[in-house]
Amino acid sequence: MTPEYIKLKLQIKRKMKTIAKHQLLLQDLKSQCPHEEVVAKESYVSGGYLNTGETSYWNECTLCGKRSEITRKSDGMFG
Ligand SMILES: [Zn+2]
Repeated sequence: MTPEYIKLKLQIKRKMKTIAKHQLLLQDLKSQCPHEEVVAKESYVSGGYLNTGETSYWNECTLCGKRSEITRKSDGMFG
């Protein structure tokens, strides 16, 4: 191992530790989110041989990204 490699390895490890710490802090902050800005989202999955197409609807917080429970609506069409 070269001294450069050892130095780089230390830098990477240290940075990864910092990121992990920040992720914990971020999680903690997100857990306090009151979800005041929520947008309605939907996603369509087309039908296949055995299942009909369906659209999923849910609400998602624009700040923390938390999703409400998904409601599904089938369009009754096979692919
Ligand atoms: Zn939120």
